[in-house]
Amino acid sequence: MPALEPCPLFINGEWVESGRNVTEPVYNPSEGIQISATPMCGADEVDRAVRAAGAAFPDWAETPAVDRARLMFRFKELLEKHFEDLSRIVTREHGKTLDESRGSVRRGIEVVEFACGAPSLLMGEALENIAPDIDCDTIRQPLGVCAAITPFNFPVMVPLWTLPVALACGNTFVLKPSEKVPLSAIRIVELLAEAGLPRGVLNLVHGGRDAVDALLHHPDVRTVSFVGSTPVARYIYETATRNGKRVQSAGGAKNFMVVLPDAEPDATIDAVMGSAYGCAGERCMAGSVLVCAHDAADRFLPYLSDAARGLRVGPTDRDADTEMGPLVTPEHLEKVKGSIRNGLSEGAELIVDGRDVVVDACPNGFYLGPTIFDRVTPRMQIAREEIFGPVLSVMHTDDLDDAIETCNNSGYGNAAVLFTESGGAARKFRHRINAGMVGINTGVPAPMAFFPFSGWNNSFFGDLHVQGHEGVSFFTRQKVTISRWG
Ligand code: NAD
Repeated sequence: MPALEPCPLFINGEWVESGRNVTEPVYNPSEGIQISATPMCGADEVDRAVRAAGAAFPDWAETPAVDRARLMFRFKELLEKHFEDLSRIVTREHGKTLDESRGSVRRGIEVVEFACGAPSLLMGEALENIAPDIDCDTIRQPLGVCAAITPFNFPVMVPLWTLPVALACGNTFVLKPSEKVPLSAIRIVELLAEAGLPRGVLNLVHGGRDAVDALLHHPDVRTVSFVGSTPVARYIYETATRNGKRVQSAGGAKNFMVVLPDAEPDATIDAVMGSAYGCAGERCMAGSVLVCAHDAADRFLPYLSDAARGLRVGPTDRDADTEMGPLVTPEHLEKVKGSIRNGLSEGAELIVDGRDVVVDACPNGFYLGPTIFDRVTPRMQIAREEIFGPVLSVMHTDDLDDAIETCNNSGYGNAAVLFTESGGAARKFRHRINAGMVGINTGVPAPMAFFPFSGWNNSFFGDLHVQGHEGVSFFTRQKVTISRWG
């Protein structure tokens, strides 16, 4: 068996081994083999990282915004130079196809490009003569040590949702990536160090709940950015706000896709396939429920089932023709299979069963094929709970009003999508739908870096989302000055 890849911490500009010998396995899910072991850091190592970030803060905060932006330009150049290498690391430890990894790394780079605009983004407002001889202006200043805790499903993109903006705004940072995919985060940190980031400005720790709790309770951590499942997102929000921190905490999702009979057939099926099975369904923007209004199911479902059965499932690390890769770990594969068993026991009709998939080339990989349940009702668990795998639930409703009500009864609110040729239906959907990101004739849409990633309800806890101007507001605080010189 090949040697495991190292999984070091980065503290105060040095790569160091963790003192902990408790680890979690990191897999290559395509092959089903362990490739690294993540150390489960405790409070002592987190404290060292936070203290290093705290010590680096005064100088970094005083560094002119234009110089911080120049560093981001160098980071962007290095990300471009190592784009392919970084995408391959994502595929290797997560299992998504290389094209999916490339797409997600590109999305991360777009946030770095946004952060390159730091001098403009940080400008305040001014008004002279708010009263005779009295002027008023606002400036934005950084907060201090910011922490991010990230999930397994986008190992480069999600850390880059916050890291470049926080640093460009003059904060220092501690990143705690998912213990399932630490290797991409290590590469990001290496590139930032190569770009010339001063020591201590960015620190990397690994682990799970102990490391997270240490961040949530550390008095020197000023902000917490979390992305992960809803129960943990709620816990993070409640704990960190109670400890006086500014928090943005993104949770899980159940995204509904509504199809009206007048929708354009080929484009709709392509978009539904991409949303349901892209990244093997391991996306907070996965389309996991298809709501067919009127007789849309008769028109679309036979073609959709054929497309699902025809999807090429296989290894992503060595086969460029693979259209859908494995799930991330054997435990997650079992969890998703458990959801399929639940659907069956609740009486849904399993019309495409992904458990039949056989990948001869990689018998130990964590594979599950595209799966479709028909006749799913709102009370079934597969209609209510996030599955986070390649399982699509199909529901039937009388009309658009019923469909909107069905979507709005979900406790989540990341995204919802409508397929139709009717402008009136599209307007009604956008106005009434209870979700923060809406698609009309698109797959479930992730906003680009200059717009907020805008989940609602149990998909987000906090006020200011990641990305765009909300991200800049989250990572700065405003100061208003009123001056009289007359
Ligand atoms: P997860 O909640 O299991 O883990 C996320 C992070 O929290 C990891 O770093 C993990 O180490 C840590 N963690 C896990 N359990 C913890 C606990 N009890 N206490 C403290 N920290 C804990 O999520 P995951 O399985 O890595 O990622 C998948 C989830 O992330 C899905 O629910 C998905 O919808 C969600 N997600 C949401 C968004 C969004 O923008 N809303 C984006 C990507 C992923």
